[in-house]
Amino acid sequence: MNFLYPQGKKQALTFSFDDNQDFDKKLVEIFNKNNLKGTFNINSGTLCGNIGENPDGNVYVKPEEVNELYKGHEVAAHGVDHKFIAGLSDVMIVNEFLNDRRTLEQITGNLVQGAAYAFGWHDEHIMDILKKLGFKYSRGVDSTFGFFPPQDFLDWKPTCHQGCEELFELGESFLNCPGYIELPLMYVWGHSYEFGRSGDWSNIEKFCEMMSNKDFIWYATNMEICDYINATRSLEFSADGKKAYNPTLIEVFYKNDSSVCSIKPGEYKIL
Ligand SMILES: [Zn+2]
Repeated sequence: MNFLYPQGKKQALTFSFDDNQDFDKKLVEIFNKNNLKGTFNINSGTLCGNIGENPDGNVYVKPEEVNELYKGHEVAAHGVDHKFIAGLSDVMIVNEFLNDRRTLEQITGNLVQGAAYAFGWHDEHIMDILKKLGFKYSRGVDSTFGFFPPQDFLDWKPTCHQGCEELFELGESFLNCPGYIELPLMYVWGHSYEFGRSGDWSNIEKFCEMMSNKDFIWYATNMEICDYINATRSLEFSADGKKAYNPTLIEVFYKNDSSVCSIKPGEYKIL
């Protein structure tokens, strides 16, 4: 089955940026200008200022700014206090992520079921805890430099970091992506403060312009991509492979010869 993204788009581009510093405002502006979508991973501790006077001297987004600022994008968890979770007890890990979820859900009024691991650190045990806490995906920091969607969304590895030397080269390759990759996905992650502190936004501005407004790319948040790919993986097939049933609530698109077809939610279809 040659799956396609929604509306028959061939490939998808997503971003995720961590740590909710004030520089997110400029980054969102660049995304919005270029019709790109991203996910913002938030530490509710710094967001709500409950770790004191932010002694690190950083300026953080304020809770009352969240909904307007990240409108059209996704708000996801990143741990209340950005703790290095390797040495924490299970209770502390649960508190770190569940309380982050709780606060962010109160602020946004939406479900928050995505996350990024602080410092990227995670293992099977942590992934299992997050799954039990209702998280559908979580991102690490190891780059794949490739365009395959993750096998396990709780171990989601991005394509590359915003500052990687190959960013533009990868962008070019993605725009000319080989046909053998099913549901090609480019995923760039980073921190807006890395641009903000240097004052040099030129690379991300250039990259966003280069990748924007392509009719064959689906620009989506991490969660939209996770939900869509999970839907493609949930299709049920007849023994001869000639019929398929879509038990999900998401319309799934695919290519049949050269035409774009879809299976609607609840539909049983001859392929
Ligand atoms: Zn972080």
